[in-house]
Amino acid sequence: MVSSAVLGFPRIGPFRELKKATEAYWNSKISQEELLKVGKEIRLNNLKLQKDAGIDSIPSNDFSYYDAILDFSILLNVIPQRYSNENLSPLDLLFAMGRGLQKGSIDLPACEMVKWFDSNYHYVRPTFSHSTEFKINGSKPIDEYLEAKSIGIETTPVLIGPVSFLFLGKSDKDSLDLDPISLLDKLLPVYQQLLVKLASAGAKKVQIDEPILVLDLPQNVKSAFKVAFNYLAKASETIPSITLTTYFGDVIPNLNAITGLPVDTLHFDFVRGSSQLSAVLDILKPNQSLSVGIVDGRNIWKNDLSKSIDFIKPIVSKLGQDRVIVASASSLLHSPVDLNNEKKLDAEIKDFFSFATQKLDEIVVISKALSNGEESVADALAANKASIHARETSTITNDPAVQERVSKITPSLSARASVFPDRYKVQKSRFNLPLYPTTTIGSFPQTKAIRQTRNKFNKGLITLAEYDQFIQSEIDEVVKFQEEVGLDVLVHGEPERNDMVQYFGEKLKGYAFTTNGWVQSYGSRYVRPPIIVGDVSRPQAMTVKESVYAQSITKKPMKGMLTGPITCLRWSFPRDDISLKDQSLQLALALRDEVQDLEAAGINVIQVDEPAIREGLPLRDGQERHDYLDYAAKSFRISTSGVQDDVQIHSHFCYSDLDPNHIKALDADVVSIEFSKKDDPNYIQEFANYPNHIGLGLFDIHSPRVPSTEEFIQRIATILEVYQPEKFWINPDCGLKTRKWDEVRAQLTNMVAAAKYYREKA
Ligand code: GLN
Ligand code: ZN
Repeated sequence: MVSSAVLGFPRIGPFRELKKATEAYWNSKISQEELLKVGKEIRLNNLKLQKDAGIDSIPSNDFSYYDAILDFSILLNVIPQRYSNENLSPLDLLFAMGRGLQKGSIDLPACEMVKWFDSNYHYVRPTFSHSTEFKINGSKPIDEYLEAKSIGIETTPVLIGPVSFLFLGKSDKDSLDLDPISLLDKLLPVYQQLLVKLASAGAKKVQIDEPILVLDLPQNVKSAFKVAFNYLAKASETIPSITLTTYFGDVIPNLNAITGLPVDTLHFDFVRGSSQLSAVLDILKPNQSLSVGIVDGRNIWKNDLSKSIDFIKPIVSKLGQDRVIVASASSLLHSPVDLNNEKKLDAEIKDFFSFATQKLDEIVVISKALSNGEESVADALAANKASIHARETSTITNDPAVQERVSKITPSLSARASVFPDRYKVQKSRFNLPLYPTTTIGSFPQTKAIRQTRNKFNKGLITLAEYDQFIQSEIDEVVKFQEEVGLDVLVHGEPERNDMVQYFGEKLKGYAFTTNGWVQSYGSRYVRPPIIVGDVSRPQAMTVKESVYAQSITKKPMKGMLTGPITCLRWSFPRDDISLKDQSLQLALALRDEVQDLEAAGINVIQVDEPAIREGLPLRDGQERHDYLDYAAKSFRISTSGVQDDVQIHSHFCYSDLDPNHIKALDADVVSIEFSKKDDPNYIQEFANYPNHIGLGLFDIHSPRVPSTEEFIQRIATILEVYQPEKFWINPDCGLKTRKWDEVRAQLTNMVAAAKYYREKA
């Protein structure tokens, strides 16, 4: 029989139950017992759902109150001393490490949080030091295995693999010379003990995730896999059988590292790495099983079941039914929970989708078709075929005018008329800005009044005219404020925007939205990405009204404010039927129209934000990465190159370490980058050669802290050691929407005072 498996299920609950309970606990509204009860309910529901769907291998220990990697760090005692000093309960320790803790005399910053591969999930980075002593600290995986067993469900506990655990971590401040991989020998005996404990509790199988196998790895890390799994196999009589999983890409460059490993089953992601099939079949040992990841864990599209069955059939012929498992490509953590909770979605569009709950059925249908023949699931296959066909031929999916426009893109569309030095000449005389021009990144505080009024408008409680009136009065205040503070290039403050991608998605053709399609981003923060359902175009102007109003009430230049094509793409669920490149080009053309409309309406400084440009970078070096960088830059330039030389194009980047070369390729006149928390002097240096103009963020917009004028002067001094003064702009790290007005006033007043200090000195 071909069996079925799921690598992990969303843990947030169908209606964000976990977020609500967790935040209530943080605000002392509910007790720890109440929070634990909500967690247990979610776990049991997930188990039953998977059992009822007919999944054979159901995961356990995929749940977490914050982050599963952080749970694992705590389980193996990878806890920096500063957190263990405080005698916190296990749950409070988890939260203290995840989000920091300030209470009475306790003042603990959060551990570093980083992106989980190229997904929108973030994990808490394990922090190792010379004094790390691995030991088993708690019993979470065992408890959750037994909890499932108590309701009659046999599960496969999920653990992060020993090599990935070390490689994804970092060394603590006091042990910077430590390469975490060197701790493998110390880790393995404890890891083995954990497996023995799971086996004693009754677990027959474990899923060990080694996702780093899809990355470029140094040789010592590659060799670590054999060391680790050979070591664990020494206790093969007393540990569960192992399924080693990889996902988010192919493992071709690292195939040697896993060839011959003593594990029972190997799992691969064939959604993102279908080309690896013959290579992995070649390395499979005679008794090893293959888990075929075929249902996308990171997207919302219905699986093309016939295509999947056809992909797996030859594998079954080769290996026999009992050695093949049909599985989700990765954990389903990255998909929304249940499509049945979408009550407002257009029926035609809804039929294109499959969320985590629906993906369970897809996995089961594929495995049944392979076990018992396609006739056994004829109805499901026929329905699926109809949906796939409907989507392919839908007028929602296809807009011939957009496709034609993309096919006619010429190189001239992605180049400004003149090179930067010539553009700068005309811009300089047009704007006549002082030395060290000051500006902000776009948003100003999103107050309760703004959110409430937007809600009222969305519910139809106030009219469009009333809402517009309100937005204008907000813009009035923001503009007046900036003039008082003395900023040089103003913004309208973005009061009309809920979110920097959704706002545009709602105005573009080709997008759809969910009411409950939440996905965990980190801890209790979930996002609800808009969905690109079809060819994208811009039926009418999206931002011109607000920008033009804002410009009409000031003599200073007003920046138009847009979200760039790559960020719109990355923070949405993209289509899987056309390339990311084509989607990016479609977005670029839509934004180009907007940029040109802004110019025509008298907006002469236009900022196109691309904070997500770094996160779209393919995981490994090579052709794919090269192509991405090429179309990302091209898309940005298509959006911004339709204007005259005297229109100043700005762009903004945050959230990650950037490569100056990637930014250079965009050819924006001015870029602003997040900078205030970078303590690495090399980073200043790296950007010093940026050929156009640049603003390095001078204060942290996530913090209420107000740096003094003196502190700003000092910061600027370090920067001016390497930068030419006439290239340098003065601005915060990012938008100010999460701050309070009194904080912003104080922060910007001091920032502007520092700029004036340097102007007078010049
Ligand atoms: N213009 C946006 C703002 O100020 C930029 C946000 C971002 O980069 N994340 O809010
Ligand atoms: Zn930003």
